[in-house]
Amino acid sequence: MSDFYKKILENNKKWVEDQLAIDQDYFKDLSKGQNPPLLWIGCSDSRVPANEIIGAKPGEVFVHRNIANMVVHSDMNMLSVLDYAVNVLKVSHVIVCGHYGCGGVKAAMGNSSYGVIDNWIRHIKDIFRFNKEKLTPIENEEERFNRFVELNVKEQVLNLAKTSIVQTAWKNGQELYLHGWVYGLNSGYVTDLEVNFSKNDDLHELYQLDI
Ligand SMILES: [Zn+2]
Repeated sequence: MSDFYKKILENNKKWVEDQLAIDQDYFKDLSKGQNPPLLWIGCSDSRVPANEIIGAKPGEVFVHRNIANMVVHSDMNMLSVLDYAVNVLKVSHVIVCGHYGCGGVKAAMGNSSYGVIDNWIRHIKDIFRFNKEKLTPIENEEERFNRFVELNVKEQVLNLAKTSIVQTAWKNGQELYLHGWVYGLNSGYVTDLEVNFSKNDDLHELYQLDI
């Protein structure tokens, strides 16, 4: 067994002891149920851990992560997480959090093949195509990359708003706010892109469902 593997098992034991030293009932209380106010849709990147960067404790964030924080409308995994979060847990906020330096977004800007993931990255390439006029004039590659990361987050927030799950919740008067954030790997800070949606009137007419 590698040292790393042994270490993480030891870390777990120590973590349990630390939590119990603070509160004997910590795990007993957590096991009773969860009532998180937030669904986080983030990138799988190991450097963007949802709970840590927003100082949230276990029980406070329902999390879905995939490569490049995508909201793909035929993704049953994402739809199941979203449905459960909105209709059972009744979260009031959904944050799509992208990050600068995202490998998935970077791959979508090039032509290299990475195997099966190429098919996932195609969704991100579509975002580039939708925003070609805004992106191609940016000569500085890093700037173009950063802007693409931001535009991808905005598009994924829009994708969330287009789902029947979110629109039904709004129709029923449920308080549900959608947000788009970008995390800076080299600063630790998040930027709120202020793509806030809270009703289906905010959508293009074509996507407004008569629910
Ligand atoms: Zn990423």
